[in-house]
Amino acid sequence: MYCDDVLCPICDHPSQHKIYTMDNLFTVEEYIDCEPCNYHYSFTYGYYHEIIGGEDFYWSYDQPKDEMVEIRKKKADMIRNFREKLKSNTKGAQ
Ligand SMILES: [Zn+2]
Repeated sequence: MYCDDVLCPICDHPSQHKIYTMDNLFTVEEYIDCEPCNYHYSFTYGYYHEIIGGEDFYWSYDQPKDEMVEIRKKKADMIRNFREKLKSNTKGAQ
């Protein structure tokens, strides 16, 4: 297992990134957790889970392509709305 910091894809804050590999060859589990915005990403044995702005998204390695397009679209909308919200919150605090 190894740990490093990656920038949160939502709020750009350094967040914890954990990777578990099998025989140091391929990733079997991967996690990203961002404290300030509660972003969560996990990959476990082919299954993905992401939390963006309190909304859960699930998909898997064998998700049908048309469903994947739909999920990506929903995620992109959620990310855009949530970023807008974060921005206005920051403005309000100043
Ligand atoms: Zn974040």
